[in-house]
Amino acid sequence: MSEARIVWRRTQLNRRTVAMLVAAEKLYQSQFKFIQGSYNKGGVQASAGTHDGGGAVDIDVVKQSPAQRRAIVLALRKVGFAAWLRTPAQGRWPYHVHAIAIGDQDLSRGAAIQVTEYRRKRNGLANRGKDDGPPGFYGITWELYQKAHPAPVPVAVPDSSISLGAMAYARTHDAMTGAWGADRARVVAWAAHPRVAAISKAETLPPAGVPWHLHFQRVLRKVQLKFQLPVTGIFNEGIAAVMKRYGYKITA
Ligand SMILES: [Zn+2]
Repeated sequence: MSEARIVWRRTQLNRRTVAMLVAAEKLYQSQFKFIQGSYNKGGVQASAGTHDGGGAVDIDVVKQSPAQRRAIVLALRKVGFAAWLRTPAQGRWPYHVHAIAIGDQDLSRGAAIQVTEYRRKRNGLANRGKDDGPPGFYGITWELYQKAHPAPVPVAVPDSSISLGAMAYARTHDAMTGAWGADRARVVAWAAHPRVAAISKAETLPPAGVPWHLHFQRVLRKVQLKFQLPVTGIFNEGIAAVMKRYGYKITA
């Protein structure tokens, strides 16, 4: 099986690698700047074939401080990359972070060898030196990371319809699966949209210990406050009418 290739932010990658990078950027709390992605056979000679297949990415850290460089390597390692800071002292390249997605189906031979080296706590270079990055994540993969950090909100499908039946169910249930979960995620994302701003970005997830159905009622109350509707915490005709104005289709 091979990975689904995708060009993301002008960089050739695959979907699994992109999902990993999104998670790592979230940990780092800032965007990465990519120099080189994957499937780049013959692209950069100094890369020695490690970017020929999938799962490989280089991040520009020329302008970052030593602490920021460490934080980028750490974030990448936490989500399942074999990642190292590469310095001009090590080769003919500028400061960058070289990362290989562990477990990627499309790894080139060179990249697969680097993963093995990473797990042996080595630096992945020809000199087979000791790993010089933050230890403690050698056994992590993207799949393990996801298991430990389940996404509370499923990725919203490109659909703009909200079901009243699903909303009634979402009011009393916590699972984020099924139509109620997807519709609830859409309502919450809409409420947090800068043009609506009924809730803050932080409020798109329940605070620790608060069940989803209670959090959702609170979001609905905030929406009702914002649009000067009677505050009931129930997804009713009032909210439905507002969302219709924003282009949503409300169904039974
Ligand atoms: Zn690289």
